[in-house]
Amino acid sequence: MVGIDLRAFIVISAAFGALCAFVLFVMRSGFPRDIMGLTRWGCGCVSMAVAALLFTMRGSIPVLFSSFLPNLLVAAGVIAMHGSIREFGGSQRKDRDLLLLVGAAGLCLATATFMYDDYRARVIIMSCTLATLFAACALATFRLQRNAFAERFTGFIFLTTAGIMLMRCIAALFQSSSLTPETDTSWVHKIYMATFSFSIVALSIGFMLIINRALHSKLEALALRDDMTGVYRREAFLAVLSREMTESKLTHRAMSVLMMDLDNFKDINDRHGHPIGDRVITDFSAKVLQILRRDDAIGRYGGEEFLVLLPHTPKADAYGVADRIRTIAAEVWSADIPSYTVSIGVATLETAHADSAALIDAADKALYAAKRAGKNRVEAAHNLADSRSRLGQGESKLPVTGILL
Ligand code: GH3
Ligand code: MG
Ligand code: MG
Repeated sequence: MVGIDLRAFIVISAAFGALCAFVLFVMRSGFPRDIMGLTRWGCGCVSMAVAALLFTMRGSIPVLFSSFLPNLLVAAGVIAMHGSIREFGGSQRKDRDLLLLVGAAGLCLATATFMYDDYRARVIIMSCTLATLFAACALATFRLQRNAFAERFTGFIFLTTAGIMLMRCIAALFQSSSLTPETDTSWVHKIYMATFSFSIVALSIGFMLIINRALHSKLEALALRDDMTGVYRREAFLAVLSREMTESKLTHRAMSVLMMDLDNFKDINDRHGHPIGDRVITDFSAKVLQILRRDDAIGRYGGEEFLVLLPHTPKADAYGVADRIRTIAAEVWSADIPSYTVSIGVATLETAHADSAALIDAADKALYAAKRAGKNRVEAAHNLADSRSRLGQGESKLPVTGILL
């Protein structure tokens, strides 16, 4: 490394690694219990930081402590990180395969260190083992949530580290067998050591980003989401609607709202009991989520009444979505709950003059029309730009999928 003393760099990285572990141990006490893996990751950091410090003492302490033990500590540290990611992701599986791999590598390493004193063999054994461990970590991290930045960042660091470990292994195969730590001044070895040191810090930052995102999602869920269904609470939905409305007006794009109310729900409660009624409500919200796109939003407006926001959606398309919801609601997904139906009112913003209250009011009136027309129906409100309301003027003659215009 140009102008940088590699030993000093490793010591600084080890200190940062220990600091990351300390931060994680402190954070642990304030984090919700179900965001797991912090302690294990902290232990991994400590293990790797101690290993890094021992590596720098090469030449002044016995090889058992300057090479054999730190190599095993690094492997243990990476396994701890792997376990931590698994724990965070909620997996119960143990890392038995990786432990076996490290056990076998440890035996080979002991032979190469204490029987043959073969430095090149040690490098090959450890770099190959670490490449496998880091690659396993990358895979576990990418599996957590592919699209989130924190997971992608951490997975990328794991993968890059695995690649450099592999490169070190391949380079060692072509080096002289009489190589010793003192004569090994190759660039590839310096990059290998520097990468290992840097990865302790970079990976810990990545893991902190991951748990921070999880905490953010959890707090958001607690503040904004309905306990029973997991969809937006009424106030949160109205805030999202208001934001989207401003955007729609600025971009002159249509947006629609669906007001949905389960039919004859009092009967369901009376006949099957409140707990089954609750399950009907959650079943319905799960079905709606199957239909909605990523940018759509759903909120629980009251008991068994829901609102859906469909950004960038003109009336005819919104009507299509509503009818798909109406159809899927009537499907029986679970034999434990009674069949049920839903009525839906559709309102579309096609003018810059309406506000969210007017839009919801229009959807509500369309819903009322659907109820009056016999339930299990979709009705669309007239244009909000149109001042004449024609709801309630003979819509009952319309077919189930008719649009009120
Ligand atoms: P309609 O077809 O006209 O909508 O008739 P309905 O019987 O569904 O009437 P309404 O929508 O007014 O009924 C709402 C009922 O939903 C009344 C209330 O007891 C029940 N309810 C409200 N919140 C909950 C809830 O969280 N769980 C359960 N099980 N029932 C609820
Ligand atoms: Mg109802
Ligand atoms: Mg109701």
